[in-house]
Amino acid sequence: MGRDINRNRCVQCGFGTNQLFLLYSPGNMHLVKCDNCKSVADEYIECEIMIVLIDLILFKRQAYTHLLYNLIDTDCLSRQDLAWKFGLSFLLLDAYRYMLLRLSEKQSYMTFSSTIGICQKILMDICVGNIMFICALHILSRVFLRSSAGVHKYRYKHFFFAIIISSYFKIFLVCMMIWEFPSPVIFIIDLFVLSSNVIAIKVITESAVSRCVGTCLCAHGAKFLATKLFEK
Ligand SMILES: [Zn+2]
Repeated sequence: MGRDINRNRCVQCGFGTNQLFLLYSPGNMHLVKCDNCKSVADEYIECEIMIVLIDLILFKRQAYTHLLYNLIDTDCLSRQDLAWKFGLSFLLLDAYRYMLLRLSEKQSYMTFSSTIGICQKILMDICVGNIMFICALHILSRVFLRSSAGVHKYRYKHFFFAIIISSYFKIFLVCMMIWEFPSPVIFIIDLFVLSSNVIAIKVITESAVSRCVGTCLCAHGAKFLATKLFEK
């Protein structure tokens, strides 16, 4: 079947393919054509990583398919090595985001006890926010994104991995360590993360764009409301 989750995908039509290229000899590579649409299954194989990055930033669905199905080895994903590394980076960047937001509320000098208080609040924000985010995504994906073939168990793992990896826009928060930006920039980065999540969900679930947008909006909204609820 063309939609086998464990196979590589054609970046144009999403049809499953066993091979993306044939290596006749070192340096002599032939890109395989898709059986379904007859175009080259994944032209990104021959591209520089910068081209892939630019297309990801431009939200090109083909680049997301390449990243989520063809670039990342599914065996690595099953060993959970990459998932843990990206998951930890996701949480650390999230912690940094909450720290920026909390510090923007605080005035000039801070005592030791107020610093401890902020750390506790950041920890609470990360736990409550992300638990709500994961629960909302899990429920919404079951309700809105269930494909006609049914959601495979592996598919959920792939789904959450896609959410984590497509949140790479959070890395731009690091720029705020170097340059001073007004705090609304954090929310602009949030918008880019949300848009990137929508494309990743679209690629993974093949659901309608409106359902992907709705799922992402509700999940991010639940995360935002949960942290506001625990705010004093
Ligand atoms: Zn194709």
